[in-house]
Amino acid sequence: MRHDRIIINNARTHNLKSISLEIPKNKLVVFTGVSGSGKSSLVFDTIYTEAQRQLVETFSSFARARMPKLSRPDVDGIQNLSTAIVIDQKRMGTTLRSTVGTATELYTYLRLLFSRCGDAFIGPSFVFGFNHPSGMCPDCNGLGVRIKVDVDQLLDRDKTIREGAITHPDHKVGGWNWREMVGINLFDVDKKLKEYTEEELQDLLYAEAVPITKPHGAGTYAKHFEGIARRLERTYLDKAPAERSITQKDAYQKYFRYSACDSCGGSRINEKARGVRVNGKTIPELVQMELVALDGFLEAVGGDVARPIVAKMRQILSHLIEIGVGYLSLNRPVATLSGGESQRVKMARQLDCDLVELMYILDEPSVGLHPRDTDRLVGMLNRLKEKGNSLLVVEHDPDIIGAADYVVDIGPGAGADGGGIVYAGPVEGLLHSGGPTSEYLKKRSGIQGTRKPWNDCIEISNATLHNLKSVSTKIPKGVLTCITGVAGSGKSSLINEVFLGENKEAVVIDQSPLGKNVRSNPATYLGVFDLIRKEFGQGTDAPPSLFSFNSKGACPKCSGLGTISYEMHFMDDVKVTCEECQGKRYTEEVLSLQYRGKSIHDVLTTSIQDLRTFFENPGITRKLNILCDVGLGYLALGQPLSTLSGGEAQRVKLASELHKRGKIYVMDEPTTGLHMADIERLLSIMKRLVDEDNTVVVIEHNLDIIKHADWIIDLGPEGGSEGGEILFEGTPQDLLSCERSHTGKYLNMLQA
Ligand code: ADP
Ligand code: ADP
Ligand code: ZN
Ligand code: ZN
Repeated sequence: MRHDRIIINNARTHNLKSISLEIPKNKLVVFTGVSGSGKSSLVFDTIYTEAQRQLVETFSSFARARMPKLSRPDVDGIQNLSTAIVIDQKRMGTTLRSTVGTATELYTYLRLLFSRCGDAFIGPSFVFGFNHPSGMCPDCNGLGVRIKVDVDQLLDRDKTIREGAITHPDHKVGGWNWREMVGINLFDVDKKLKEYTEEELQDLLYAEAVPITKPHGAGTYAKHFEGIARRLERTYLDKAPAERSITQKDAYQKYFRYSACDSCGGSRINEKARGVRVNGKTIPELVQMELVALDGFLEAVGGDVARPIVAKMRQILSHLIEIGVGYLSLNRPVATLSGGESQRVKMARQLDCDLVELMYILDEPSVGLHPRDTDRLVGMLNRLKEKGNSLLVVEHDPDIIGAADYVVDIGPGAGADGGGIVYAGPVEGLLHSGGPTSEYLKKRSGIQGTRKPWNDCIEISNATLHNLKSVSTKIPKGVLTCITGVAGSGKSSLINEVFLGENKEAVVIDQSPLGKNVRSNPATYLGVFDLIRKEFGQGTDAPPSLFSFNSKGACPKCSGLGTISYEMHFMDDVKVTCEECQGKRYTEEVLSLQYRGKSIHDVLTTSIQDLRTFFENPGITRKLNILCDVGLGYLALGQPLSTLSGGEAQRVKLASELHKRGKIYVMDEPTTGLHMADIERLLSIMKRLVDEDNTVVVIEHNLDIIKHADWIIDLGPEGGSEGGEILFEGTPQDLLSCERSHTGKYLNMLQA
């Protein structure tokens, strides 16, 4: 048996058509194909799942007896797998506690450097740690920001406390806190808050904890009363989510305002630690430097004690800079990084990993990268390979496909029309394979189509957020505008923060998951499942509610989920099919009810496109057609939204927005997860929105979208402090002659 290849026999997961293939190890292997063709089914749900299962098999029987039995993916067998590591785009943390510095260990070495070489020796390295009591700034507990309650959000001054003047959900009428307030007799609970004196209000909000006496005959109360804002601030501090864009704030976040901590200036550490210098610089100065500048500083730090620490830091820094995130700084909370940035930080971390013969699995590492930076990414992937690892990369970017040693093209179509191997072999042979990927690679061309003119616009003036250098610009109405520029140039700051902050009515169509309800699917999202349940009810003489996932018709064991999840300590959560219903989600009684020969489970597992003719209900057909229009006809109607990729989720959102007029839509890299063939479809949807007089603003680095835009705003020239300027505003044709613009340069190359 050959050990230099992963051998897969008859994979049948989801839509895979019993495919067998051999994948060379220690190579850069790219998996491509249209969206829904089966790439994830092969790479994640077959290869990775089996690698995890085989890993667990190597544990002692003692350990295994304490774990759920992992199910085998639907494949006859896979040989020669290595330990697999997924480098994904999930955020690395949700609170402010984890920063680029802590996540990359650079901060650990910085503390070490300061404790060994600082000009004022103050103790061991933890005295510089912002997550350590002896190092943290006492005023912000090491978060670098202060959190204050927004009193105007918190209080409804036209009401009395009894009527619910305190609007925070923890204080709702009838709840524990409300009953306490009404019971303790400290405040006049029947006086409108607008009639409170300034002092009364101050006590209500910010009183220090005062002992209270329990009123006669009342229930149990806390022994102290603390001002409500004071308590909310204190208890919120530690679980505070990092500041996200305005659009993502949760219900609780709207009650809070963040501001930099004025004691530590955002550096998170206490006065003593802030005073120590190495080569004339303090930690507060170093953690806000861009990584490129930090590297320059370290280069000049000498001495026997410092040398090994500096060498290690510069090694880590070189990887981060090489992969294109040199514009970040150590104090940046990782929760504020984009998906692509998070993935690149994780990738840089792996270059410092001493294990070899690993199998790295990456999903679209080109996300968020300007064509200029693709070469660097390929260099990085090759470095991981040269360390003796195998790389399995799902990707659509023509330049990354071109750099692969081996290409597996899955398809040719999506869903039932895909799941086959169109081509597997060295990249040179791909162009002759005749599938959609080779066709699109061959016919790629320059600027196309006509520009829709505009006369009305929305102005942005003097934006200075993050790296923006007092940017003023016009966003034209009723046309398709692309915001371009290299990573870190300021695109998201300008659009997702500044523009959306001023245009709150804009609809954001991003790739974030579609809500937290694990029972949702495309049908529930578009509201078509209600109609289907009614049809089922009429057709089977049963109450429609019986067909709901959270009714008594649902399987009681898994509560209508079809799977049961287990949390694992050392790897991702594991989902196991429910034994009671075998994943069918309903009770046997409900499953026996048939409508036109199909049970509700049959309908939920049928593809959306096949169901268009199954129901003769125009309301249902219309909504299913919309889903097909956005290219999601291959999805099973009941496929949980939680299993959709970011790009698919984005298209479900698009589907629910079509046929509206005069709105503003903002999309952040809508081409993520899309094959060149899918991009054509996406473009036609964007054009449709524009034809209906909507304003569409997309942040995009994909040249195949940029060349179709009506208007382009190019930011740059570089990332971070070297960016944040507008280099160009105008049509794609005019961008060709803008010499300072990287985007213009790459657009020119496409023209050739
Ligand atoms: P790609 O990664 O190429 O976009 P996928 O492997 O995600 O494609 O999907 C291939 C097919 O398998 C699609 O028809 C999709 O609807 C189906 N599929 C994917 N994930 C699931 C799932 N968890 N349950 C059921 N069907 C799925
Ligand atoms: P792009 O969208 O073009 O990749 P961004 O707008 O994300 O660029 O970033 C522009 C600059 O602003 C970068 O230097 C980045 O590090 C910085 N930046 C972005 N978001 C934040 C944030 N939440 N906190 C601090 N700096 C940020
Ligand atoms: Zn502070
Ligand atoms: Zn069940």
